[in-house]
Amino acid sequence: MKQADSIDLTAEAFRARLLDWFDRHGRRTLPWQQHKTPYRVWVSEIMLQQTQVATVIPYYERFMERFPDVEDLANAEQDAVLHLWTGLGYYARARNLHRAAQIVATEHGGELPVHSLEAMTALPGIGRSTAGAIIAIATGERAAILDGNVKRVLSRLHAVEGWPGRTAVERTLWGLAEHYTPDERLPDYTQAMMDLGATLCTRGKPSCLLCPLADVCLAHARGEEQRFPEGKPREALPERSTQMLLLRDCQGQVLLEQRPPSGLWGGLWCFPQFDDDRALGRWLDDHAPEARLEPSWNEFTHTFSHFRLRIQPRPARLEAQPNVLGEAGRCWYNLHTPASIGLAAPVKSLLEHLAQLTTHSEEDDR
Ligand code: SF4
Repeated sequence: MKQADSIDLTAEAFRARLLDWFDRHGRRTLPWQQHKTPYRVWVSEIMLQQTQVATVIPYYERFMERFPDVEDLANAEQDAVLHLWTGLGYYARARNLHRAAQIVATEHGGELPVHSLEAMTALPGIGRSTAGAIIAIATGERAAILDGNVKRVLSRLHAVEGWPGRTAVERTLWGLAEHYTPDERLPDYTQAMMDLGATLCTRGKPSCLLCPLADVCLAHARGEEQRFPEGKPREALPERSTQMLLLRDCQGQVLLEQRPPSGLWGGLWCFPQFDDDRALGRWLDDHAPEARLEPSWNEFTHTFSHFRLRIQPRPARLEAQPNVLGEAGRCWYNLHTPASIGLAAPVKSLLEHLAQLTTHSEEDDR
């Protein structure tokens, strides 16, 4: 197993410094730190995966207002859940959260199993670090975390070589996380580790001068803060392309289709998509032969974690609304009184653009 370089500080002294820093500078007014329940902590931890606090706060508040407890979430339609997640990205998180709420409601009597790491990690969307954070913050019981922020702090502190996505490196980091996790003040310690990574030991430009660990941090001593944690060995992201049909009917409504429940944008509503002109033309011949294609809009790129999608918007108009397009899995979306459905981010911005265009052309008609 890969060993971490040791630092000149005991685990006890590490915790004392960190908690002292937290007492003076830590964040205590975040919405999920108020009226703390396992459910509220859980939702916040899922939303905070790969997303910054400032982005999460308004989504979290809307979500809590609509689904104040597990039962409310378990009984909700998936569309209602995805609607409140629209724009937050990584939609599998929302689908897993919804599914996990249903399991908690049916198999755990509506109570998140926060006293068992094993039961927690058996729920969809909850890995070891997320389970640790929920347990530590919601119950105060001892559990280690290793989210992106903590990985960064520990990699720099101990100058851990290698990309943390590699099993051996991750194992080393978990060893360090376990080593430093205390037996008491778990909620504060856990929040302190996350806060240190989010506010001082940041990815771009760490504020080492303000850091309570600066005199023992190996990356800082070597002037190599930026080298840790090491990045994933680079591979060019593959590219795919798609054409999105922006089909408006005579009332200015736009045709959307619901994606299959899993996979890319699973369960979200999107424009009909095609690989190329021929496929688009064939679909129009079959479903809406009276539609008139308008000049294409500029192509743009949406980047996912594992590929880049080049999107070519293809606006078209219909003079009448064919019945065949009103079937299940399709809807006519009213731009000015939008339905509460989950939308993929590029679809949402294209709809906003269409709504602006429609408003302008209505004003021009007056
Ligand atoms: S000294 Fe700098 S690099 Fe080291 S833990 Fe503190 S902020 Fe991070």
